[in-house]
Amino acid sequence: MPALDDILREKLLLLEARHARREFKETGRLTGVRVMRNGRELISFSCNDYLGLSHHPEVKAASKQAIEIYGAGAGASRLVTGNHPLHAELEAQIAVYKRTPAACIFGSGYLASIGTIPALAGAGDLILTDKLVHACIIDAAKLSGATVMRFAHNNMEHCRMLLESNRREHHHCLIVTETVFSMDGDRAPIQVLKALAKEFDAWLMTDDAHGLGVLPRSNSNKGGGGADIQMGTFSKAAGSYGGYVCGSKPLVDYLKTAARSLIFSTALPPATIAASIAAMKIIASDGTLTEKPLHNAQAFTSLAGMPPAMSAIVPVILKDNDKALAAAQLLEERGFVVSAIRPPSVPEHTARLRFAFSALHDKADIEAVAAIVREQGWVCELQA
Ligand SMILES: *Cc1c(COP(=O)(O)O)cnc(C)c1O
Repeated sequence: MPALDDILREKLLLLEARHARREFKETGRLTGVRVMRNGRELISFSCNDYLGLSHHPEVKAASKQAIEIYGAGAGASRLVTGNHPLHAELEAQIAVYKRTPAACIFGSGYLASIGTIPALAGAGDLILTDKLVHACIIDAAKLSGATVMRFAHNNMEHCRMLLESNRREHHHCLIVTETVFSMDGDRAPIQVLKALAKEFDAWLMTDDAHGLGVLPRSNSNKGGGGADIQMGTFSKAAGSYGGYVCGSKPLVDYLKTAARSLIFSTALPPATIAASIAAMKIIASDGTLTEKPLHNAQAFTSLAGMPPAMSAIVPVILKDNDKALAAAQLLEERGFVVSAIRPPSVPEHTARLRFAFSALHDKADIEAVAAIVREQGWVCELQA
């Protein structure tokens, strides 16, 4: 029997041959967009901190103050003694923001998904997801034991077809999609999905990870809103950490007993929740700030000769892993961090640069990256 390390070395070599091995790159974040890598200061188009709130003075101050009052760690899971007073405050705040009767905070967006989906669907039930949903939804659906089917991306005819041919043989049915797709930056037709869910007696769940704080609140509510289960995270535009599920009171009450990732994991540290509370206050009150990421993304797509951005995320598809890596390398040499996203984060042969626009980007930086994209002819490849 080969030793574990020999087997793993072999696997790593195979990954390297496909340009699919991943490694961490140490990156110090100085602000929402300025980062330090290998001793160089770079501008990042790679952070989901769309509003720069991770470094906002009020957010940092709230976090420090919570440590002074409540300490560094939560001490236990929420059902034991980890449910400190800040939980109720953040839950009330996000429920008001999302216009739902109740909300439940989880350790992260990933934990919210893998706790919620298996709590609501199981053997004998049907889960339908968009083909491009985030890994946390795919993992959660698998974990649930329900029958899982995926409809072609944003293809409502396909979704209807799957419902028509499979809904009747299953007890409950849950449809899951994202408000803003994390690797493509486009948006789901939530209103159509809502109507389909109603017609086929299904529940609709949305993941608003990249919508919160970026899509106009009215839009986000018209979009993500109205779904029976509205999930999201404070780790993106809110600049903090932690997941949430918003919905009815019975939904939230039930999750407290049935969501295993909530029950069997220690509560978030008080400082993290305090940061989310301070960030949500800013998101709820500063419309000028929250409209900037989309505005900057659209300035970029216009300059780069691409179709208008629909969110703060703009993919530039280069297809091959090595091309995406080389493109990210070239951008880094010119002073910009843009992530190369490869399978399995995206489908095979759709490796890409993923630009994430922040409220803090300068016009000059946006012009510079758009010029590189044009100069390299990357956009032509997208349309080819
Ligand atoms: C980031 C992300 C998550 C996970 O949220 P975390 O709080 O980082 O665990 C879930 N869904 C989508 C679409 C995401 O982009």
